[in-house]
Amino acid sequence: MSVEIPISKIVQGLEPSATLAMSAKAKELKSSGKTVYDLSVGEPDFITPQHIRDAGVAAMNSGHTKYTIASGIPELKKAIVEKYKSDYGFEYGVNQIVVSNGAKHSIHNIFFTIVDPKDEVIIPAPYWVSYAELVKLSGGIPVILQTEESNNFKMTPAQLEKAITPRTKILLLCNPSNPTGVMYNREELEAIAEVVIRKNLFVLSDEIYDKLVYGDNKFVSFPTICEGLRERTIVVNGVSKTYAMTGWRVGWTFSPVNVAKKMGELQSQETSNPCSVSQFAALAALTGSQDCVLTMLSAFSERRDYVAGRIREIDGLSCPDMGGAFYAFFNIKKYLGKKIGGVLIDSSEKFCLELLTQKQVATVMGSAFGCEGYARASFAASLDVLKAAYDHIADFVMDK
Ligand code: PMP
Ligand code: GLU
Repeated sequence: MSVEIPISKIVQGLEPSATLAMSAKAKELKSSGKTVYDLSVGEPDFITPQHIRDAGVAAMNSGHTKYTIASGIPELKKAIVEKYKSDYGFEYGVNQIVVSNGAKHSIHNIFFTIVDPKDEVIIPAPYWVSYAELVKLSGGIPVILQTEESNNFKMTPAQLEKAITPRTKILLLCNPSNPTGVMYNREELEAIAEVVIRKNLFVLSDEIYDKLVYGDNKFVSFPTICEGLRERTIVVNGVSKTYAMTGWRVGWTFSPVNVAKKMGELQSQETSNPCSVSQFAALAALTGSQDCVLTMLSAFSERRDYVAGRIREIDGLSCPDMGGAFYAFFNIKKYLGKKIGGVLIDSSEKFCLELLTQKQVATVMGSAFGCEGYARASFAASLDVLKAAYDHIADFVMDK
């Protein structure tokens, strides 16, 4: 008799992360000996700066190899509070911080802690791949609010108001945005805040790209906008993007004390503390010189300009201005329904898969971000890689 362990309904319904799936495909192709231009996953191509790595090694060698407080070491919580205060002039208590195994884990903690079955979470699309799945895992309902390229993929207060129902609990904001790189300015955030307060919503503000902001764009942290937001907002951040620390797995939240307490307890049962060594490395990242951030930012900025120029030169492709983060989200609608290399391109998924197969450029399909007709390409890659990748993309759409 053959026996199969049944998968729970909730996990059966879970989509795997498309960003990580495309990255795995690119790695597979690379391991077969092919040169692959990997613009799929969003992670800095830089190695973690030396002084941060040294702090990790020192932590290990001085015996910080044991369990810590589940919600994070006090030194790191204090450093998080101080950095936010010096950056944005806004003070949280140490008891409002929960350090987790990365911002993705923080987002899961938030939904698990405050979403009840059938609660609705408004997610403006295009959205980062994990939001909707994490809402569903917590029993909630993701309500996708489609934004338009013609409005730079920004949600308007009127669109927000229209999406609200009696079951709406949370608005998710990702600023700067993954996947579009678009940023809300202060006035736009004020207008959203007005609806949030009037309609009694709570906000998950994902600010993981707050330090990766280009040109004249100014990042504004959501709870600092006006009175009344601190008590209804949970901010997510972490070290992955700012300090090139994706593998260390450290993220955190700023939240009201009752939520922080429960998230800490949840974590104590679910995962215990985030890696002790990584927490000390994150402490060095926040308290040490920030020159490394400026160096990486200036490289990203140069790449952003290069990539925006290349995309706009290619017939039919367009993308909004990338104010922050390190992604270009480009319109490929002109090529849907056409054949490239003899293959019918009937979706953004097909476009990205064929681009990988035919030209070895790995990107992620817009459909994974709730936005068919687009593709996302990270520009956290060297200029040489970007140059070759965009040469290949241009050849691909010209079917050469
Ligand atoms: N939020 C956004 C918008 C992201 O792009 C990512 C990508 N990693 C995360 C959260 C999760 O980051 P972490 O590596 O800290 O889990
Ligand atoms: N956030 C990055 C991305 O969007 C990393 C991968 C992931 O965590 O999904 O590519």
